[in-house]
Amino acid sequence: MPACAGELVVLDIGHSTADAGAVSPDGRVSECLFWYRYVGEIKREIEAAGHRCVVCNRGYAPKKEPLATLAKEAGVVQLNKPDKGGVRYPSKHFPDRIGAGMVSADYGIERKPACMIFLHLNSVGNGWQKGHIPGLVIYNRRHGQALGECLRHAFETELYDTRTGGMPQGGKGCRAITRFRKEETAAGWLNALDDAGIPAAVTEAIYVSDRAHVDYISTPVGARRAAHAVARGILTWLSTR
Ligand SMILES: [Zn+2]
Repeated sequence: MPACAGELVVLDIGHSTADAGAVSPDGRVSECLFWYRYVGEIKREIEAAGHRCVVCNRGYAPKKEPLATLAKEAGVVQLNKPDKGGVRYPSKHFPDRIGAGMVSADYGIERKPACMIFLHLNSVGNGWQKGHIPGLVIYNRRHGQALGECLRHAFETELYDTRTGGMPQGGKGCRAITRFRKEETAAGWLNALDDAGIPAAVTEAIYVSDRAHVDYISTPVGARRAAHAVARGILTWLSTR
């Protein structure tokens, strides 16, 4: 397929409004609500580069504003299966791949995109962590490495660079890893997409347990820069593969 045809990118907003994933100790930021709010920024940037972008979420449409309007604007495809409590179940298409929220992976597989990105934030322990921990991009083993490396590089150059007003990271970079061995836990989505031949990655480069990260992404400028880093990583990968 020629590059000018425009590739399809599927973005998944992690978790659901009913069970929002990791939340900062002060309650300011949660994984799901953050990405509902800013996924439109990523989508716009991908579309501006001539590609197509579809956003999905495992849960129901948010009822509260501003998320209800933002979700509609971003055209979020609601999969209406919030899987509260992290119940794990098999992929419809690759039943030996098991995970919570597998409905998103199955939706991505059905769309046959160039790649799929699962939008998450990271967290360790309870309360605020001490100091910075390297961010992570987790990719699927057979098809996702180049995508994971592009995202890792984009987080380092577009988000973590404090010389240009980026997010404090204390010199700790971002790592791109595969988590194939834990195939029955978080990597279930990645492995199902791997089986389908679709490059995929999970973004875990920002910690809601890192007070400096939460301060940074609680500002619209910082949040947009985080969204831009994801878009940049995807676009770099699309342009070089
Ligand atoms: Zn998560």
